[in-house]
Formats: sequence, structure tokens, C-alpha cells
Amino acid sequence: MTDEATITCDLLVIGGGMAGMSAAGWAAARGARVIVVEKAAALGGSALLSGGVFWTASSREKIELYGGGDPALAGIVFDTYPAAVAWLRSRGIQMSPRIDVLHGQGYQIDIHAHIRGCADLVEQHGGFVILETETTALLQDEDGTVTGARTRHVDGEVTVRAAATLLATGGYQASPELRARYIHPQAERMLLRANPISDGAGLRLGAAAGGEVAGTNAGFYGHLVSEPRVWDDERLYVALSQYHSEHALLINEAGERFCDESFGDHANTAQTVRQPGSRAICFWDSRAHAAYATVPVVSVGIPLDKMQVAIDNGGKGVVAGTLDEVAAFADAHGFDGAATCATIAAFNHQARHGWEVMDPPRTDDFAALDKPPFYALIVHPAITFTFGGLTIDTGARVLRADGTPVPALFAAGSDAGGAFGRGYAGGLALAATFGITAARSAGWA
Ligand SMILES: Cc1cc2nc3c(=O)[nH]c(=O)nc-3n(C[C@H](O)[C@H](O)[C@H](O)COP(=O)(O)OP(=O)(O)OC[C@H]3O[C@@H](n4cnc5c(N)ncnc54)[C@H](O)[C@@H]3O)c2cc1C
Repeated sequence: MTDEATITCDLLVIGGGMAGMSAAGWAAARGARVIVVEKAAALGGSALLSGGVFWTASSREKIELYGGGDPALAGIVFDTYPAAVAWLRSRGIQMSPRIDVLHGQGYQIDIHAHIRGCADLVEQHGGFVILETETTALLQDEDGTVTGARTRHVDGEVTVRAAATLLATGGYQASPELRARYIHPQAERMLLRANPISDGAGLRLGAAAGGEVAGTNAGFYGHLVSEPRVWDDERLYVALSQYHSEHALLINEAGERFCDESFGDHANTAQTVRQPGSRAICFWDSRAHAAYATVPVVSVGIPLDKMQVAIDNGGKGVVAGTLDEVAAFADAHGFDGAATCATIAAFNHQARHGWEVMDPPRTDDFAALDKPPFYALIVHPAITFTFGGLTIDTGARVLRADGTPVPALFAAGSDAGGAFGRGYAGGLALAATFGITAARSAGWA
């Protein structure tokens, strides 16, 4: 401490979730004095709400194909993942055996132990983790180099002087205004399926220091959820998520398909927010029900009958013996029932005799959905984290619009944009790999 209201460090980390704590722990273990300032009353953010499945795509080709982001940035996730796993193992963080996840592979990790362990590393190396602290502004010298931040705690204002500063506040999904601006006007009313603190502070701080916010990247990660009676229980985030929509049909109020459902429920969510009324009917049959809607999406998950759980929690759905009953359900809820059934019939015909003319096309799972009983559930998009954010380079340096770095300023996790676009290949992996990358670029290799 240099005086009552100023502290100094090698690395200031703003936001104590997956990206921030991974950077903090990595740098501290290599001798850095780190200060972490976290706005919430506890560390962990969305990482601690997660299932802790630490995975990524199983090849560079897949991360580019399914992620749809900047190949160079996605490549950092893929290339750094082995070092991140090795670091977790070296610290004794418990990990499951390898599991299949979407188009990739991973492990369920003890995420609490990782976050807590990183905080311990910070404190063992002379740093601090400070909770319930707002960052009001970044500090810059005359040439624009970021030299720390001004922070506000209940005990007063503290200036943190730092050789490097990392923005890791977890994205902007908790801000209806920013969702409407960057994603879609209808995204303003979207349900939030994440920590409620991450409202774009990193973007605001970074932009004020000269960083560019990539306004064109409207992608986000989320899931389709059944209508909730209440939405204040974090356990519902997984229980009401209809991960099996990729094996189902999604039909909008006009009774039409609107996306390649097989691309994945997270990608279907981003398509659904743009539909009339920002909702869809998710339709599947008894075969898909047994194979997907009652089976956990990863082997470490808990089996649930997703239709039953949805109905029990206020969801609007029907288990129907005939398509006529599905049409009546659709009509009763503001969808075009006749068109809905025509769409289902056309899909089932093309599943056998015309996969190549499906419109929208389908890349996977062409099985017909024609075995009663039929399941029709109204689903709504819910957002978990944003793909857009501050423009960074492959070293996690925040860039200005002219492509030059804002000196000594880094961003990682959901505060940084560009690695993913239309799909994703791991939120925890994105956060940890870019957290580690930022720490390395700041001199803690
Ligand atoms: C229900 C659920 C399940 C999930 N399951 C998985 C999974 O199994 N696998 C996977 O890969 N991903 C999963 N995710 C996504 C994953 O949790 C996120 O992608 C990841 O945590 C993002 O890391 P982050 O550091 O960017 O954000 P977070 O981990 O959310 O951390 C951001 C931190 O910044 C803090 N903060 C916000 N504003 C400020 C501010 N102004 N000043 C200081 N601090 C601030 C927040 O309080 C928070 O602690 C899941 C998420 C949820 C919600």
C-alpha cells in the first residue's frame, strides 16, 4: 500500500468468475501480486452456476465450423485447452473421466475448488480478493496506457495502480438495453439464465479507455426453456432447458420451421429470439422423447422427463395422440395450427423422400417424428452469455478500432468478443483459456 487510498499490484483483475480467477491464479502462481475486484458478495459468477463441464471442440475444424467465430481467436481456445487441463490436474482439481459434449470432449471439474484455489493462490502471493467492489473508471496516462482503476467499496474509494489490467466481468447478458442494442430488439425481454451481475461493465470500461466494441457480433449462448411459473430459482436453468430441440422441430407462430434445428439448442435459441413473439413450438415424438427428452445431455447429468418437468413448473405443452390435437393446442396459443401440422407432415415426408430439399435445411438427424404420442411445448429463449464484446487480439489485448492495442489492457471470457459467432465450443474453456492467455501476455507465462 502506498497510501490509505491507493494500492499497487502487477495485475488488476476486474471480475472474479472463470476468466478472472483463472488469470489471477495463473499469474499469482508465477509470482505476480494480483488484486481481484469483484462486484458481487461472492466469487464465481456464472461459473458457479454451471455444471462445471470443461470442454471444447475435438478439432480445430470443428471449433471453426460449429463456433462460427474468428478462426484465430477460436484457435487460441483449442490450442490453450491442453495447458488449462494440465494446470487443473497439477493442482489436484477433481475431474471426471472424459465425456462427450456436443461436437467435442471434456471433463466435469470441481469448479468450486478451481475458483477457491485460484483465490488462495492470489492471497499466498501477496495479493487480495476484494468483494462487493465497483470499478468506476480505468486510469490512463497521457499515451493511453491503462495504469489501473478507481474502485468503490462500502468502506470508501480505492485507487488500484497496476502494470496490467484485465476486464473479466462476464459479458452484458444482464443488461436488457445492451441485449436490444447488440443482439435484437426482441432480446430486451429475453429471460436471463446466468448470474444477474454481468451487465456490460467490462464493455463500458473498455470502450471508455478506447477499446472497440464489436457491434456486429449478435451471437449469444443460451437455451430454449419452457414457460416458467417463476424464474428466480437457479435450478430451473437446467431443468427447464430443452436441450433436445436439436432432435425436434421448431415451429414459429406462422406455423413454419425457421432454422436448422440439428445445429444445437444453443444456436436454435439465438434463432428463436428473432421470431414473431420471440417463441416457438418445440415438437417431437415418442421415439425422440425416449432417446433425448428423458436422457441427460451429458453423461454426468441427471435424467429428467423434460416435458413433465416443464408442465409441473407452469410450461404450456401437450402430449397428444394425434396431430389434430397438436393443431388445436397450437391454435389455442396463438400459433397457426393448420400450418404447424402441414410443416410436421412435410418434414416427415422429406425425412424419408427428400432430405435434400428441406427448407430450412438440416445437417443432422433426419429421423421422422411420426410415432405417437406427440409432444408440443412452447419454448422461449433464455440467455447465458454473449459472444460479442471488446475486440481483442490473440494475446487477449483490447484493440482500438484502428487495430492497435490499448496498452496494458486485456479482456477475457464473455467480456471479449469474436471467438464464437453462431455456435460455441465451451464457455468455461473460452474463459479459462483467454484468462491464461491474458496472464501470459501480461508477462506471467
Ligand atoms: C446454468 C449454467 C450452466 C452452465 N454450464 C456450463 C458448462 O457445463 N460448461 C461450460 O463450458 N459453460 C457452462 N456455462 C457457461 C459458463 O459458466 C460461462 O461461460 C463462464 O462462467 C463465463 O466466464 P466469465 O468469467 O466470462 O463470466 P463469469 O464466470 O460469470 O464471471 C464474471 C464475474 O464478473 C463479476 N462482475 C460482473 N460485473 C462486475 C463489475 N462491474 N465489477 C467487478 N466484477 C463484476 C460477476 O459477478 C462474476 O463473478 C453455464 C452457465 C450457466 C449459467
